[in-house]
Amino acid sequence: MYVVMISAESAPVAKAGGLGDFVEGIAHDMSARGHRVEIILPRYDCLRFDRIWELHKVQDLWVPYYSKWIHCDVEVGQADGLTCWFIGPHSPQAFFHRGRIYGEPDDADRFAFFSRAALEFMQKSGRHPDIIHCHDWQTGLVPVLLYEIYQQLGMTGPRVCYTLHNLGHQGWTGEHILRQVGLEPAAVVTPDRLQDHGNPTVVNLMKGGIVYSNYVTTVSPRYAWEVQHSDQGMGLQQTLQRHAAKFGGVLNGIDYEIWNPETDPYITQTYCADTLQRKARNKAALRRRLLLEDAVRPIVAVVSRLERQKGLELIRHAAHFCLANDAQFVLLGATRDPEINDSFRELKYQLDDNPNCHLEVAYDEELSHQIFAGSDMIVIPSVYEPCGLTQMIGMRYGVVPVVRWVGGLADTVFDANYSDQEFTRRNGYVFNDYTAAGLESALKRAIGLWFRFPEYFRQLRLNGMAWDHSWNRPGQRYLDIFNSIEAPP
Ligand code: ADP
Repeated sequence: MYVVMISAESAPVAKAGGLGDFVEGIAHDMSARGHRVEIILPRYDCLRFDRIWELHKVQDLWVPYYSKWIHCDVEVGQADGLTCWFIGPHSPQAFFHRGRIYGEPDDADRFAFFSRAALEFMQKSGRHPDIIHCHDWQTGLVPVLLYEIYQQLGMTGPRVCYTLHNLGHQGWTGEHILRQVGLEPAAVVTPDRLQDHGNPTVVNLMKGGIVYSNYVTTVSPRYAWEVQHSDQGMGLQQTLQRHAAKFGGVLNGIDYEIWNPETDPYITQTYCADTLQRKARNKAALRRRLLLEDAVRPIVAVVSRLERQKGLELIRHAAHFCLANDAQFVLLGATRDPEINDSFRELKYQLDDNPNCHLEVAYDEELSHQIFAGSDMIVIPSVYEPCGLTQMIGMRYGVVPVVRWVGGLADTVFDANYSDQEFTRRNGYVFNDYTAAGLESALKRAIGLWFRFPEYFRQLRLNGMAWDHSWNRPGQRYLDIFNSIEAPP
């Protein structure tokens, strides 16, 4: 099978969060199964060029833009063994020369252009994959353009699988974006197509992706239910219910090559379940790096984008609660929101003198690995969480997750005391209510166990490490989906 991924992110070269991990992980899995996989990305100026091999230009491309054309360079390179195509427009707006992936006022313009450019490139270069797999609102226009424009130009083979990673961002925009990419608004801005449910004058790019794709997935079974039956659907509930026959939740995997404490090049001491005692050296190294006191205390970590979705009030509360309960607290978090940034810098300022606390308001891949290797618990108190990868990464590194029972967290974390799973499958602590008391009810039990019953805590770590969160199962599930929608030969 020949699969082309069209995405705004792919780790390690362009990652802002879990989407980047997903694209790389599934692409590796599909390649390992013997399928041909290619990834098309924007050529951001902030790409990790040090992770791309043999990058070179292969093609000039002219992409329609309103009534004009924009000249692009198409380059190809290898990133972690995967073939990536990079589309670099010479646009007067410098679409991908912004020093970051998202968060620009013209994001809709930038990614609509990218969606059209990716299809234009595929058509001009004669690429006819069996499956186009695209992701989130940024590439929601891909199936729309395929069916409204490119099929008429001969691209009749590819079928589209569209994955929803986060319904909090749907690509709400205006009709001008459709004109930009060559679509006639009157034809597609209807209630059953791209018209937003809440506001008829708004164009919803994610809705277009859902309606026009052959299959739609989201990243956990629980979130698939939530987005159809609760306000987590953020206005798309009816659309998803209408298309329920082609919609399903597939729990994400994590890339076991990259997230592997036995081989991780970023950590001081490699280890596995059989040598779990060696993890202590990573804890000591983390303390040295972050200037934390060397004391008999658990390290409780947060590794997260700092956005409201992630439960910012409860993250702040966790910091204070840990310090008041003899635990150390470490946060690695980044945000594009200046207000949130300021508030966490203020918290850092307040707590920085405390030898049991370190807040790093930044994005740092290497430090994230060291935190997973060195900490004892990870807190994820999300308001909503489509899947969440950090609880799974944490478990792989022998870290006990403390999470709110929502979305993919509910599908992966089973409470040490209250779960109906058998004991060997219980792997963390869970709370329901989005309140300080809710968080405390779980965090207090986790910290208490660490102090009073270290052997039982160790068993919880091992239980988590024994879960298989690799791409093995989700990879097979995606393959089954791709096979079910593939065009007949
Ligand atoms: P989301 O996709 O909503 O950001 P996920 O839990 O699905 O959340 O994925 C987050 C990914 O991004 C994980 O690989 C995590 O380690 C990484 N990550 C999040 N924040 C940071 C940060 N500040 N520095 C480095 N890596 C981060």
